[in-house]
Amino acid sequence: MIACVEDEESIREIEIYTLKSAGYDAEGFADGKSFFEALPKEKIELVILDVMLPDMDGIEILKKLKKEPSTRNIPVIIASAKGTEFDKIKGLDLGADDYLAKPFGMMEMLSRIKAVSRRSNVMEDDPVIGKEQIQILTRQHQVFVNHKEIALTYKEYEVLKMLMSHPGIVYTREELLDAVWGMEYDGETRTVDVHIRTLRAKLKEAGYAIDTVRGVGYRYKENV
Ligand code: CA
Repeated sequence: MIACVEDEESIREIEIYTLKSAGYDAEGFADGKSFFEALPKEKIELVILDVMLPDMDGIEILKKLKKEPSTRNIPVIIASAKGTEFDKIKGLDLGADDYLAKPFGMMEMLSRIKAVSRRSNVMEDDPVIGKEQIQILTRQHQVFVNHKEIALTYKEYEVLKMLMSHPGIVYTREELLDAVWGMEYDGETRTVDVHIRTLRAKLKEAGYAIDTVRGVGYRYKENV
């Protein structure tokens, strides 16, 4: 679950709305107190953290998170107004994973989240990804299409898992290359297309769920 700690209701609501539309589980908190109350109960995987809050400020919250071994690895994206405050916070190097300068666009927020979760690798896989038609059992590395198991290569599996973990989110070929093949891989983006093609063929009647977004990349369409 992604936590949005933001006291301004209109911003909080658009953040939550955007995240939910993109397939993430998200919840908003108007202050530090309510966030820390929820923290032990919820599985918080990433925090979008406002700096100016009514009770404790975002910097204090960040310090607290980074001090505790149980919460140290939760990625934090600091959201702060452009200008001197923003530069000061960035300069402090308090262990935030990324920064968003307010006002920021929702697409920018989503791309930062994607980048941070790729880097941190702490977004643990769900044991089951997908609903009826395509299902991945991540612990067993098994993929089922309409309850029948199919065999995928390692890379095909990783591409499918990446797309299905964030339904609706478009991944560019470069992003998929980085995430699945790794930075060191010096191949062409065409490699991704080749794997998508074989993946679709193996998914058979469910292959259309892997959607080509012309000029951009690929996404997984849920509930189609
Ligand atoms: Ca604020």
